[in-house]
Formats: sequence, C-alpha cells, structure tokens
Amino acid sequence: MLKDTLKHQGLRNQLVKTLSDKGIVDTNVLKAIAKIPRHLFMDSSFENFAYQDKAFPIAANQTISQPYTVAFQTQKLEVKPNQSILEIGTGSGFQTAVLISLKAKVYTIERQQELYKKTSLFLPKLGFRPKAMRFGDGYLGLPDFAPFDGIIVTAGAPVIPKALLSQLKIGGRLVIPVGKDVQIMTLVIRKGEKDFEKHVFGDFKFVPMLKEKS
Ligand code: SAH
Repeated sequence: MLKDTLKHQGLRNQLVKTLSDKGIVDTNVLKAIAKIPRHLFMDSSFENFAYQDKAFPIAANQTISQPYTVAFQTQKLEVKPNQSILEIGTGSGFQTAVLISLKAKVYTIERQQELYKKTSLFLPKLGFRPKAMRFGDGYLGLPDFAPFDGIIVTAGAPVIPKALLSQLKIGGRLVIPVGKDVQIMTLVIRKGEKDFEKHVFGDFKFVPMLKEKS
C-alpha cells in the first residue's frame, strides 16, 4: 500500500535540515526532497531507515542513492522548468521523481530489466510521469530525444561516455561521477560545438556503470 503519513513528513523535514546543514542551498531541490515519499521507493523492510541520509539496497543488487548525493547532483544540473533532462540509471526512480518535481521533461535509461519493469510501473502510481523510460545501455545516451539541457549519470562511470557529450545542447550540463573504486563528481558544461568546460568536486561512492548485458 502506498501510504505516506505525518510521521514520514516529519522525518523528511529533518532530512531536509540535514541536507541544508551539509551545504545544499538550492531551495527547489530541498522542496522536492521534502515532498517525495522516499520510503515508498525502497523495500518495506527498510522503511524505518528511509529518511536517513544513506544509500540502501534495491532490486538487482543496485542501490537507491544517498539523499545528499541526489541533492548535490541535482543542484549541479541547475534544472529549469521545461528543460529536457536525460538520466542514466533509473534504479528506484527517486532521482527521476526529483527531476520531475522540478518540472523537467525527463528521459531515463536503466540496464537492469527487473528495475526497469518495476520502476516503470511504480512511478506513474505516485503521479510521476517521465517523457520516456528505456531499458538499455546508458553509454549510448538517447539519440532519438537529443540534444538535452542536462544529463545526469547515477552510476560510477570509468570514463566520460562520448555519446553523452555529443547529446548535450550548447550550454548544457553533464553531471557524472567518474572513477573506478571511488568517483570524482564531475560537471561538464558544453560551451560550444567542440568546447567543453570541466569542473570537479569531491569524492563519492556509486555502484558501477556497466556495459549492456549480452
Ligand atoms: N537514480 C537511482 C540510482 C540507482 S544506482 C536511484 O536513486 O535509485 C545506479 C543505477 O544505474 C542502477 O540501477 C544500475 O542498474 C544502473 N546502471 C548501471 N549501468 C548502467 C548503464 N550502462 N545504463 C543504464 N543504467 C545503468
């Protein structure tokens, strides 16, 4: 049952306070996290922990990202209403829901069939409707809907995939954790056809971005 109570709301408010104490300043991002029932994106056995600032296991050996990580990446994307945003790694759909709450047109790709199926049924039940959800390999991006104002990768990428750079609009932003064991949060801004500006932030820990299963 999809139940959201005042107690959950209270825990969410505390989580938002934690995120703002940790340096998240974008009020739209904080407001989105304050209203999305994260406990419903997780297995019910984790319900009591859903508003801790931690990653938790979901299906197919994957994780729902830590709220701070979701907030940090979303803040770096600088989403504006009606922008088209591509997400690589749908997972539980929590990050997708945050982007939809910010009024973006969201396209999302997941390579684990089990998660793809589960999350594509679940998100609309909560009223979150991505423009497209795809089962496939995020290394390829989504050429049919490119170019994007923003691309967010929610798995650790060994390298920055070329296809994702080519699918950014001029002025578009790619937020991607790059590295094998530990990832450096990286923001790439496309300044011109062949001109990409790179900024790096702190270390984060993600499940790996994998090649398409054969
Ligand atoms: N945004 C999700 C994060 C899930 S973890 C959430 O907060 O729930 C990262 C996700 O990326 C996993 O679901 C994993 O299966 C997926 N993933 C890994 N490699 C991928 C690839 N090449 N293409 C698309 N998705 C991928």
